[in-house]
Amino acid sequence: MSTRSSGVTKRSLQSLLLKRFGMAVATYALVVLLIWVANWVGQYPGGSLFALYCTGLVIFSQLTFYSLFRSGINLRFRDPSLTEAQILVGLGLHTLLLAQLSDARGSLLMFYVIILMFGVFQLRPPVFVRCAAVAFFAFAGLNLWEAYQLRLAEPEQALLQSSALLIALIWLSLFASYVQALRQRMRQRRYALQAHQDTLRGMMRQLEDLVATDELTGLYNRRHFLRLALRELGALGHGRQHGLALIDLDHFKRINDVHGHAAGDRVLQTFAAVARACLRDGDVLARYGGEEFVLLLPNTDADQFTTCCERLREAFARAEPLGVQVHNLSLSAGMTLLSEGDDLDEALQRADQALYRAKRGGRNRCNAAWEGAGA
Ligand code: GH3
Ligand code: MG
Ligand code: MG
Repeated sequence: MSTRSSGVTKRSLQSLLLKRFGMAVATYALVVLLIWVANWVGQYPGGSLFALYCTGLVIFSQLTFYSLFRSGINLRFRDPSLTEAQILVGLGLHTLLLAQLSDARGSLLMFYVIILMFGVFQLRPPVFVRCAAVAFFAFAGLNLWEAYQLRLAEPEQALLQSSALLIALIWLSLFASYVQALRQRMRQRRYALQAHQDTLRGMMRQLEDLVATDELTGLYNRRHFLRLALRELGALGHGRQHGLALIDLDHFKRINDVHGHAAGDRVLQTFAAVARACLRDGDVLARYGGEEFVLLLPNTDADQFTTCCERLREAFARAEPLGVQVHNLSLSAGMTLLSEGDDLDEALQRADQALYRAKRGGRNRCNAAWEGAGA
């Protein structure tokens, strides 16, 4: 993955995590509000000082988490959402709150479940069970501590509450592992789907290549060339020129007749290999049909284009096809230049006429349409 896309992924992950964190903060804000309302109506036995203490602890803990998210330090942890840490802090604060209550403890017990709900989709099953165990032992420990200090008013009720909490936590742990298994299965399906899509895309590319390629030489075929040439012509800017050449192998019929069709095929392949070695990446060469080829050289001028075609002609004249005794190969080329607004068919006709003159002039030569019929 590139640095830029990994930066984008990190940013979107962070904004998602901050949104989730915002939900936790909103829940805390509601609980703090509840404490102050209870305090105001005189239902909170802890008193204003303890309510203030709780508010301070909540603000401090949430500011700590917020600065971890903002600074990006959270990304260094195995789970950047810091879900387990947030849940443990929540469980601790909640136990502290319950320690101040005796009668209302039962009704606020469900907050353990609500806090743990934040981890149902996020935590791995063993981590979730660990958090659930912390919740249970925090509550049971609180009761045991009070019993030890002989402050536990109703031990039977505390036992009942602890048992109810245990059942709720066991059920929640089972639910969390079911959800995780479900997520895992969905993830696997998504990967499988992606793999299928990649295979299909690869097959599509192969098909496109097959449709665009000439089987014998591996060059583009005529249809694909015309498509590419029209695109290049459309993109041709003012004052710029492309070179277009029709290339025909000389006396090719004779090669077939003397050495056989297979040798002719080998010569065609040899021309393709020689041309590939002579041309640059952006140049477009295609088999136009039979022993005729077409070349498009983007952004060139008359001199550069002539030099390129001459280089190709000379290289082919030196070529010795492997496995066949064919010598003295030669080609003729008709060259023209494409300018902005030019018509491709007309340009091909100009190149064809230049090629015809090259043949008439004795073959093994490149003839330029811009030099006129008399050249
Ligand atoms: P010129 O110098 O005037 O171009 O003469 P030429 O013999 O090259 O041209 P002509 O058009 O008379 O013959 C072209 C030959 O190319 C005829 C055809 O059988 C042969 N040919 C066309 N396609 C293939 C092919 O795929 N493989 C082989 N081996 N021969 C082919
Ligand atoms: Mg020929
Ligand atoms: Mg021909």
